[in-house]
Order: sequence, then structure tokens, then C-alpha cells
Amino acid sequence: MSKRDYYEVLGLEKNASKDEIKKAYRKLSKQYHPDINKAPDAADKFKEVKEAYEVLSDDNKRAHYDQFGHTDPNQGFGGFGGASDFGGFGGFEDIFSTFFGGGGRRRDPNAPRQGADLQYTMTLSFEDAVFGKETEIEIPREEECDTCHGSGAKPGTKPETCPHCHGSGQLNTEQNTPFGKIVNRRVCNYCNGTGQLIKDKCRTCGGSGKVKKRRKINVKIPAGIDDGQQLRVSGQGEPGINGGPSGDLYVVFHVRDHEFFERDGDDIYCEVPITFTQAALGDEIEVPTLHGKVKLKVPAGTQTGTKFRLRGKGVPNVRGYGVGDQNIHVKVVTPTKLTDKQKQLLREFGEISGSIPDEHNESFFDKMKKAFKGE
Ligand SMILES: [Zn+2]
Ligand SMILES: [Zn+2]
Repeated sequence: MSKRDYYEVLGLEKNASKDEIKKAYRKLSKQYHPDINKAPDAADKFKEVKEAYEVLSDDNKRAHYDQFGHTDPNQGFGGFGGASDFGGFGGFEDIFSTFFGGGGRRRDPNAPRQGADLQYTMTLSFEDAVFGKETEIEIPREEECDTCHGSGAKPGTKPETCPHCHGSGQLNTEQNTPFGKIVNRRVCNYCNGTGQLIKDKCRTCGGSGKVKKRRKINVKIPAGIDDGQQLRVSGQGEPGINGGPSGDLYVVFHVRDHEFFERDGDDIYCEVPITFTQAALGDEIEVPTLHGKVKLKVPAGTQTGTKFRLRGKGVPNVRGYGVGDQNIHVKVVTPTKLTDKQKQLLREFGEISGSIPDEHNESFFDKMKKAFKGE
């Protein structure tokens, strides 16, 4: 089964606001929740809605989806699945507590949490962006300490359950007032909310269980990537906490200008100078393209500013939809350094030709005359 567009799943336009996305999700997830809706396809619909929401409600994932759709050039890269891996659904209450906050939501210090996402800016040459390449980047990121395997305790010792909060990471303080008891809940200051105390700290990581490392990551840059676009590399962000999944790495591309070509989406633009003689008599010229030199026939009587299109000589579409064109803009160059012989020939040419430039332009002079007469 082919995947439906996430915006379509939520019944939204591409420019939907965050609020609209949230509202659509609330409405549809209630409608299809398997605890309520007993239709045979309700569970699948619910899953589809949830997946669409997970992506569109996350700025990074949404930007990535807008750019690549369901095709992820690095899919399968790294340890964790891409956008389609969201697992099952929790209970009904689960959803509503996330919607409405649910007041004093407790965060279990031992619950698995996803690691942080990382961002990396990569500068590419014009050609590398057009053709793509495979490259290695070095990312400084936190990794589990090898000495203590992430526990933060000196080898041979173990972290102990914090006796102050009994491992919950939170402390309750009760206050008696004339109106009754007030309970305040705060992060345990003995263990900083981790629920554990380390007596003998690991010397390598100082007790944090993590060390900064530079990690080499192989990145496949898809052909046709453009300035400002980004690529998500699944599972290559910071490691998860308490066995949670790793975050993602977002590579943002900056593409350098080319001295000759300009790019607009998948199309390439360039200006090619030709001589007055080539323009008048016609010629076959060689023009550079990103795919090598190409012969271009300039017909006799070509005007400056004439555009020629070389189909398929542009940039491969990053989503795989064909290849753009190269547009050539011809510029007739007026000679500035003339020899006596050249001047003489041009004068003769001028005498034969008269002062009206060309029959094509006669209409222009006619119009001008009319305009000045006020007709
Ligand atoms: Zn350590
Ligand atoms: Zn504690």
C-alpha cells in the first residue's frame, strides 16, 4: 500500500499552522481511537493519524518531510527506523494526558528518553550539490563513557539508590497551614533528579557517565540538494537516556555560488557572449553545461537576449522527479577595439545598410514615431 500524504491524512493544507495540526490530530485521534471506534480499519487509521502528527508537529521532521516526502535518502541509515517507526499506541488516557497537560505530571527519572537532536552545517561546492556525493563528517557528540559504561561510578562500584528521594528523583515537602496541608514537589537536590547517588565517581567522565567524542559519520548527500535544505540522518544524534532511542542528526547544507552558472530550483541559467558576426550570420558554438560541453546552433539573425533551452542539462531533482534544464541567455557583444581595416569594413557595411537597424525592428521605429505624434 502506498503511503498517503501526511497533510492529506490530517485534512490540512501544506501551510497549516501548528495550532491547526494539533486540532486536526485531536479530532481525528478521538474519532479513530480503537477504544472508541470499533470499525475494522480504525486501528490502521489511528496509526496513520498518529504518524502524520508525529512528523508534522516536529519542526525538523516537518521541514524534512516537506522537502523529501516519504522518500528519505538516508532511510535505513543508523540504528533506528525513520518516520514510519512510531511503534504502537498507548492507552486512551495516555493521549489525553499529553493533550491537556494533566497538572502535576511526574517525570520518572528512570524512564527511557530520546537523546537530543544535533545539527551540522555543511558547505558544498555547486557541483557536489548538483551531483551529490558520499562523504564522512566528524561530529562532536556525547557518548557513553567506556570506563564505567555510562553508570558514572568507579569500576567495581555501583551507584546507590538515593536515600533522600528513594530513587524517585523528587522530594515532597509538606507544609501545615491553617487551611490544611500543602504538598510541594521538587527535584531532589541530593541526586539532581537522577534517583541515584554515586559515592566513588568514575575518573574518566567525572560521574556523568558520558564523554565528548568526535564521531565519524558517513553521509550520503542526494544529487540535487539545494542551499538551505537539510537532511535527517536517523539515530545519529546524542545517545538516548536510560535506554531510550538516540536523537537524529540534521545536516543543513550551504551551497557555494558558481562563477558561471546560476541555479533556480532544478534549472540552470547562464549568459553566453557571442560576437556581432555570429549573431548576424549564425554559428555553431560550444557552451559549457554541468554535464560537459554541448554544441548549440545559433541561427542567423539572433538578437541579444535570445534564450535557448537545453533540455535535461540542469540539476537532477532531489526527490527523483527528472532533471531540470539549462537556460542560455545570449548576449551580443559590441566590439570595442577595432583595427582600421575593421572600422573601414563596418563603415561600408553601414552605408549599404542605412540607419534602420533591421526589418524586424522597423515596427519599433514605427511605434516610436506614432508615440511622439501623439497618435
Ligand atoms: Zn565514566
Ligand atoms: Zn534523590
